[in-house]
Amino acid sequence: LEPDKPVHQITKKERQRLVETLKHISLTVTRPRPLAEAIVTAGGVKVQEIDPKTMASKLVPGLYFAGEVVDVDGFTGGYNLQAAFSMGAAAGKWSARQE
Ligand SMILES: Cc1cc2nc3c(=O)[nH]c(=O)nc-3n(C[C@H](O)[C@H](O)[C@H](O)COP(=O)(O)OP(=O)(O)OC[C@H]3O[C@@H](n4cnc5c(N)ncnc54)[C@H](O)[C@@H]3O)c2cc1C
Repeated sequence: LEPDKPVHQITKKERQRLVETLKHISLTVTRPRPLAEAIVTAGGVKVQEIDPKTMASKLVPGLYFAGEVVDVDGFTGGYNLQAAFSMGAAAGKWSARQE
């Protein structure tokens, strides 16, 4: 593609070639980014062991989970924060109903 070519002038054939090129870019991962840049922890309490409505443990009565302690992790972009907020709201609400 000519770098200065306006987008509306790109032909269907050129678009297809561009897509094929992008889809076949090969990258080799050499090492992870440093721990200091890590944003979320993988692993934790299995979701199968938790009631998703109340966030209560299915194994230990009166125990509730929320956030990173649960084996749920997503890409950056707010998914982990939203998950922590939602789980925390449910766990707080339902644990307060305990006698
Ligand atoms: C640098 C960075 C960038 C991030 N960016 C994003 C992002 O862009 N989008 C996204 O969705 N997620 C992001 N995350 C992840 C997100 O912040 C977490 O998934 C989320 O905050 C987890 O919530 P949490 O309540 O489980 O844990 P935390 O937010 O870690 O809260 C745990 C709290 O417990 C306290 N605590 C620990 N031990 C004790 C103790 N013994 N007694 C009392 N208190 C204690 C800690 O001080 C802390 O305040 C990022 C995380 C990091 C580190």
